[in-house]
Amino acid sequence: MSARKKSQKPKVAFFDFTGCEGCQLNKLNLENDLLGILELIDLVEFREAMDDKAEEYDIAFIEGSITTPSCVERIYDIRRRTKILVALGQCAVSGGINAMKNNYPLAQVQEEVYGKDKYLFPSMPAMPVRAFVQVDYEVRGCPMSMPEFLHVLKSLVLGRKPEIKDYAVCVECKLKENECVLEKGMFCLGPITRAGCDAICPSNGQYCTGCRGLVSNMNKNGAIEMLKQHGFSVEEAIKRMAMFNTNELVKEANWGNR
Ligand code: SF4
Ligand code: SF4
Ligand code: SF4
Repeated sequence: MSARKKSQKPKVAFFDFTGCEGCQLNKLNLENDLLGILELIDLVEFREAMDDKAEEYDIAFIEGSITTPSCVERIYDIRRRTKILVALGQCAVSGGINAMKNNYPLAQVQEEVYGKDKYLFPSMPAMPVRAFVQVDYEVRGCPMSMPEFLHVLKSLVLGRKPEIKDYAVCVECKLKENECVLEKGMFCLGPITRAGCDAICPSNGQYCTGCRGLVSNMNKNGAIEMLKQHGFSVEEAIKRMAMFNTNELVKEANWGNR
């Protein structure tokens, strides 16, 4: 039994918005760490695993993007009741794969998905949590990176600021001395994607699809030149980026102007 009294542990809650719930399910797979985590926190709300609810939280982890007016009301309410809010996984961090719908007129999407019932389901463009409320920390990836989640959780429990990486996947990939998949004829978004996954895809012979979003100080021109040297076009890059980075592409609208 922990020497720490239950009341001294931080109250932690998990909430799901629009997403596949893969990030939440991932946590339940933390067999080796789960008991240790539960020693450190007071888990007060987590729909996937328990029925309990709480009025206030020290740390709220949010999975999923904001896609309906009721999502907006709910995230406002959670933000009001939590001290720290962490976006969990790329849907919450950037809109993620859900944001692909933002490439089409909303009315067309509603018609395709709901047909004659479209007015029963109010919808909005898929947006990141930070578009509506203050987000204190982010755990990126689709699904979220488990080591990064554990680092953020442990840091917050210890009252420290988590260190969040902000350089390209290529850095981690080079440190692992991987053969670059571009040399094997594959397209790779590693030069512009934010590290923190230990370059897991190229380390296993796969290309990076950019699931952790864009690095903040990306060398866009360098990445474009590098891709061109390997026979890929800017159009191809934009098409690939749209899978996880539609909302960032809107901000980086001049990608296509080269
Ligand atoms: S980030 Fe990926 S794994 Fe997580 S909820 Fe969204 S789609 Fe699912
Ligand atoms: S382009 Fe891809 S495979 Fe090549 S170094 Fe960067 S992350 Fe690794
Ligand atoms: S290598 Fe790229 S696609 Fe793979 S987990 Fe890392 S960021 Fe995501």
